[in-house]
Amino acid sequence: MKDVDIAIVGAGIGGMAAAIALHRAGFEVGIYEQAPRFGRVGAGINLTPNAVKALDGLGVGAALRETAYEPLCRVSRLWDTGEETSRLELHAQGQRRYGAPQLTIHRADLLSALESALPAGSVHLGSKTVSVGQDETGAWVELAGGARVAARAVIGCDGIHSVVREALAGPEAPRFTGKVAFRSIVPTAPLSRYDLTPTTKWWGPDASSQIFTFLINRGRELFVFATVPETEWTHESWSIQGHKEELLRAYAGFHEEARAILDQCDVVLKTALYARDPMPRWTHGRITLLGDACHAMLPFMAQGAAMGLEDAVVLSRCLREAPGDAPGALLRYEQARLERASRIQRGSLQNDWLRSDTNADWVYGYDAWAEALPPRPAH
Ligand SMILES: Cc1cc2nc3c(=O)[nH]c(=O)nc-3n(C[C@H](O)[C@H](O)[C@H](O)COP(=O)(O)OP(=O)(O)OC[C@H]3O[C@@H](n4cnc5c(N)ncnc54)[C@H](O)[C@@H]3O)c2cc1C
Repeated sequence: MKDVDIAIVGAGIGGMAAAIALHRAGFEVGIYEQAPRFGRVGAGINLTPNAVKALDGLGVGAALRETAYEPLCRVSRLWDTGEETSRLELHAQGQRRYGAPQLTIHRADLLSALESALPAGSVHLGSKTVSVGQDETGAWVELAGGARVAARAVIGCDGIHSVVREALAGPEAPRFTGKVAFRSIVPTAPLSRYDLTPTTKWWGPDASSQIFTFLINRGRELFVFATVPETEWTHESWSIQGHKEELLRAYAGFHEEARAILDQCDVVLKTALYARDPMPRWTHGRITLLGDACHAMLPFMAQGAAMGLEDAVVLSRCLREAPGDAPGALLRYEQARLERASRIQRGSLQNDWLRSDTNADWVYGYDAWAEALPPRPAH
């Protein structure tokens, strides 16, 4: 396998975004993905304006808008009475305030849009990274089977169980958060008596019980994401099936509208939720981390993918400004990103985002393409 400028481990949302951004910044990239083919797992994903700005700059915005839904607003409601406790206007107002709309979309459509923008010949499927290394002149990735790829820098985009993270920071398993999540996509036609246009969070009687819904597929389907406390069942999976009866039992006391939505969830995916604490550093010389590899978080602020997209853009800007100084550029990237991503990681764990407050400016207003970068590190 030939050497490249930048080697990227993992072709998830973060790795693909990094590859596109770095290619556009003039670098030859190679992406090494363990899976033998691109999968279509997952369900809905809520792309807040900060994520949409990052994606628009990558040139994939038009493809996303072909199937996405653009919610009018985001509301919080109480689980039992249904009372609305906050409303954040999106759509035209969101566009004016944040510089981009919010888009809600099937995850497969986001992945397809990114895949079709990847530089030709850059992806190596069935290529599992087993170790990474570096010296004063370069870095490298070692793949299962023995191949070795040399590069100026290595970016670990290999998700919550990152081997690159382990190589840099030592072994540490992600923490089970005591929560299980159910996901389902239901047709909207049987629910036509309800106004499903807002992105809606139903806040339950405790911080682990909540239901989040938003329209996808131009409004033809509703994505349902529900969490409950759980101590015994700890399987992490994008494909294990749950049962509608579990959902109806867990949310028996919820408002009639929430239960009517759950009653449509004939196919349910179930996963235990894991998270990590913020890291003190991401960059070690010519190797750094990006996305869930360095800041895996709970989904309660809908910012996991968004943070990876922002990382990718900022990383490409830092490397573009200092193409001959990979260690300096990677350190500057960490300085630009670590505090924000860590704050959002902590906020997601707390799970009170937009419960009664309606100021989302510091999260949604961020523009990874325009945000001021810290000074270049002195050597
Ligand atoms: C239930 C749920 C709902 C969510 N909802 C939202 C939402 O609404 N909005 C949002 O912004 N975020 C959301 N997220 C978070 C978001 O899905 C993740 O943050 C995002 O997918 C992380 O992308 P990533 O590329 O960093 O990692 P991943 O998507 O995990 O990709 C990592 C890639 O690396 C590959 N890989 C792993 N190890 C190796 C190896 N050794 N060698 C080669 N390849 C390897 C994997 O196969 C994979 O393709 C949600 C998460 C969950 C669990």
